[in-house]
Amino acid sequence: MLKGTGASEGIGIGTIMLIEEVSLDYTPTKVEDPEQEILRFQEAVQKFIHETEAQAEALKASAGEKEAEIMLGHVSMIQDPYMTGEAERLIREGQCAEAAFESVSDMFINMFANVEDEMMRQRAADIRDIKSGLLAVLLGVKEVKVSDAPAGTVLLAKELTPSVTAGINKDNIVGIITETGGKTSHSAILARALEIPAVLSVENATGILKNGDFVIVDGSKGDVISDPDGETVKEYTEKREKFLQERRELEQYRGKKTVNANGTEYELVCNIGKPQDAEKVVAGDGEGVGLFRTEFLFMDRDAMPTEEEQFEAYKKAALILKGKPLIIRTLDIGGDKEIPYMGLAKEENPFMGFRAIRYCLKNRDLFKTQLRAILRASAFGDIKIMFPLITCLEELREGKALVEEVKNELRLSSVSEFNENIDVGVMIETASAAVIADVLAPEADFFSIGTNDLTGYTMSCDRGNADVAYLYSVLQPGVLRLIRRTIQCGRENGIPVGMCGEAAANPQLIPLLISFGLTEFSVSAPSVLKVRKCISKWSKTEADKIAEKVMAMKTEEEIAAYLETIV
Ligand code: PEP
Ligand code: MG
Repeated sequence: MLKGTGASEGIGIGTIMLIEEVSLDYTPTKVEDPEQEILRFQEAVQKFIHETEAQAEALKASAGEKEAEIMLGHVSMIQDPYMTGEAERLIREGQCAEAAFESVSDMFINMFANVEDEMMRQRAADIRDIKSGLLAVLLGVKEVKVSDAPAGTVLLAKELTPSVTAGINKDNIVGIITETGGKTSHSAILARALEIPAVLSVENATGILKNGDFVIVDGSKGDVISDPDGETVKEYTEKREKFLQERRELEQYRGKKTVNANGTEYELVCNIGKPQDAEKVVAGDGEGVGLFRTEFLFMDRDAMPTEEEQFEAYKKAALILKGKPLIIRTLDIGGDKEIPYMGLAKEENPFMGFRAIRYCLKNRDLFKTQLRAILRASAFGDIKIMFPLITCLEELREGKALVEEVKNELRLSSVSEFNENIDVGVMIETASAAVIADVLAPEADFFSIGTNDLTGYTMSCDRGNADVAYLYSVLQPGVLRLIRRTIQCGRENGIPVGMCGEAAANPQLIPLLISFGLTEFSVSAPSVLKVRKCISKWSKTEADKIAEKVMAMKTEEEIAAYLETIV
């Protein structure tokens, strides 16, 4: 069995078609008439653009708009004036079009290939793809077309370029195997959009597997089984049927309301880190955003994002969501989220230290800039503000006072368009906040329980420390009591209570949350349909019975063992 990265779920069983790279060899020549050569170069660029746009059009039909944008990105890149200008400059110096374009492309590839950031490294793969595409046009050679692959084909390639992937007919391609690429590579994104099982980064796959080999691709686990025996094929055929059946079943929940077995409605929203993730929310059938982790806008850069940059980011998310709710959490840095240019001092105990709302309240300019950007964006959607790591009422009051201060300043300035009644909510993710939920609720517009931190702070244990990780469980009686209490206090004060920690998608916890009276579940976009299905299974009476039993139990072990039996 070969191991790789499972990048697109599902099982594919079929025959290998090896995508070999065509030879793009040429002998560099010195050109006599550079202007004529530039013309040849420009014509090749136009032809490349034309072909790529046609591929994008085909991709739009098979995989969707967003995937087609990858191909259109190639069109923008090759039109970059620096790229073409530099190639033309080299041609004027006497190089042939092939050599000129290759050297400009290689310069960009080297620049992008060695950076830490995976997204930037992806750029190098894009430019490699553009380079071979344009060289193929210049040399008049045809790149392999996968569009003619017969039914039951498993594509195998060193690297599956978007231009090759674009030709995929999803009725015939049952699996994809590559030697490079991770979960966020374009091949992975496309494979997922086309719902084709894919295993990427399989070491030396093109050396081990041959054209015509019979294989099983398990995209859920990241396994490739070559030459399987009859028993294994039977086993995986059953697995594939089960997977497809589950996928079909989940599809029934698309476009439906989120209701329990009694018909009580819940809000099922998503967690995002970047404005463009809102597209995944819409595609995944999420009903809005329950947590926008804004710290990602502050990471991977050298300086603070300006008010304008933040405003654009929040507005973008709001516009994509078209009026669906968008809860924006104010900056939650510190602890495990470091931002080098902010110059945070090294602390003995960063998780207990100067972080999140504590940092923002002491750095008012930075905080007010963010609040101003959020308020301005509130003219474009149903935006709410949420404060992280609240531990006492003073912090909530101070934060709210700053929101009012910014509103006043906006009124006095020329900006009058913002939601005067914007909701301000509290993340309940510290033990103290949960214990004083009765004190916080009358002054908050909503709660959202952050179980990731609440579990750690309640159990006084660091998830990263393997020696104490056994304590880190949301099923600990201490954590469950705080969750129940928070929801109860919210209900008594008439405010909605959501959950945006990972536990919101935990099928074992869902009946308890229904029983306690949670009103909103915020989960990752790909889990929406699964969670909607899970919620639909429970009636309030059944959920209450389970909750009653669980809350009478004394240990996590007992609770976990019992909940194992109910889902
Ligand atoms: C949480 O703590 O549960 C949470 C959702 O916030 P984060 O994971 O960003 O700390
Ligand atoms: Mg948190």
